[in-house]
This record gives sequence, C-alpha cells and structure tokens, in this order.
Amino acid sequence: MIEVKAIQKSFGEHHVLKGLDLTVKKGQVTVIIGPSGSGKTTLLRCMNLLEIPTNGTLRVGDISLTFEENVQPKPKDMLALRRKSGMVFQSYNLFPHMTVLQNIMEGPVIVQKKAKEEAKTTALQLLKKVGLADKADAYPDQLSGGQQQRVGIARAMAVNPEVLLFDEPTSALDPELVGEVLKVMKELAVEGMTMVVVTHEMKFAEEVADKVVLLDQGKILEQGEPSELFNHPKHERTRAFLSRLI
Ligand code: ATP
Repeated sequence: MIEVKAIQKSFGEHHVLKGLDLTVKKGQVTVIIGPSGSGKTTLLRCMNLLEIPTNGTLRVGDISLTFEENVQPKPKDMLALRRKSGMVFQSYNLFPHMTVLQNIMEGPVIVQKKAKEEAKTTALQLLKKVGLADKADAYPDQLSGGQQQRVGIARAMAVNPEVLLFDEPTSALDPELVGEVLKVMKELAVEGMTMVVVTHEMKFAEEVADKVVLLDQGKILEQGEPSELFNHPKHERTRAFLSRLI
C-alpha cells in the first residue's frame, strides 16, 4: 500500500530523516514510536506530501514518485498521491465556523466535486460510525476534545482514502477522553482500514498494531510485531526507550 524507499528530509541544514525504508501493507496497522524529535511526524507528513521529501521514492497505492534535491515531481502527480490518504491531526484542525456536518462534507464537495446530497448521506453515515449522529448541527467549540477528534476521523474518511494517517491523535486530549478515540480507531482497524499511527499509546500499539516501527534520530532503529519488539527488543537503545515509558 505504502512503500517508502531511502526517504530523506532536511529543513535547511537540519537533516531530520536520514534514509528510511518502510513498507505499509494493505489492511494493516503500522504504529510509529520513538523519542521526541526523532522524526515521527515528519515521516508521516512526508507520506501524504504535507512535507516534501528531499530525496527518495514514495509509493502510495499505484502512484510512485521520486524526489531529488531541486527536482520535484509534477504538481498534478503529487496531488494524486496526496488524495490517496486521509490525515487525522493532533489538534483536530476542524473549521470553527462550520458545523460538524459541513466540516465532514467540505472535502467531498469542494475537493472531489461530489453532489451535496451524496456527500451529506456519507457524512451522516460516518458520524453514526464514530458515535456522533446527534452532533451533525453542532459547531466544534460545542464539542469535547474527544468528540472533535472523532469528527476529525470522520472527516478524514469522508474522501474515501486508501489509507488513514494519524499524527498523535490522542496527545491533546484529557486522559478520560483518550479511550473513546482509540475505540473508534480500533474499530476501523478491525474493519480492515490501512492505518499508520504516530502515538505514545503503547497499549494501543500492543493490542492493535500489526507492526511497530521505532524511529531514532531520523532512522528506523527496529521494527517488528508488537509482542516481539516490546518483549524482545534487539537493540539496547530500544530497551532504553521502552523502559522510559513504563
Ligand atoms: P515529537 O514526538 O516531539 O512530536 P517527532 O518525532 O514527531 O517529535 P518531528 O516533529 O518529526 O519529531 O521533528 C523532528 C525534527 O524536525 C525536530 O528537531 C523538529 O524541530 C524538526 N522540524 C520539524 N518540522 C520542521 C519544520 N517545518 N521546520 C524546521 N524544522 C522542523
């Protein structure tokens, strides 16, 4: 589904991703963990070109693009690749002046040029799926953080993406609201949605991930099935990172 090959990303002189290879299989949940500043968010944002890789090759579904310093793929091709994925942000990023329903319909109607009625039907189905059927006409500031994030998930799904990317989706939430968001994510995983999740929620990783990837200083230090990586880490640095979490 996603293939990242020798991806590098620099911000000016700051070399953040130092040549990463990663495969995300269709229908699987890949969780990315690692110390603060290791490049997790940057890697995720490279997967949908919110950040443009400096070098390397990125394939999402049937679109493969190669990046080189000073040579970028055509904007049309980058847009096509971007549209393969939906993104869920740490801070929800809902439009405050729009209702929940309008927020979810925005992508399908404005970007995909879908008919409003069709977009509305889909949006209402998605709201039901995330347990917020009664909030269609509410504005974001009338919702709790957990509810806003569930709208964020419904909005990301509204464009019918092949893969969902989550950037620390529960980090901004009060602890008592984390569970309701993780529950929706778990349900999506069970239904076979392909997901890449940057998170510090190790219990979620252990229970839901097919693969856990540990980033360290812009490189993949270790990856594997959660039980293997958590119980039998191969590297001392992995052990040290995991022990800091407990
Ligand atoms: P955290 O767990 O703290 O969110 P992270 O592993 O997600 O960290 P990134 O957010 O990817 O790390 O950041 C990696 C490094 O890249 C950091 O040193 C950060 O300051 C730098 N960085 C990220 N985005 C930019 C940007 N737009 N411009 C300059 N530097 C950036």
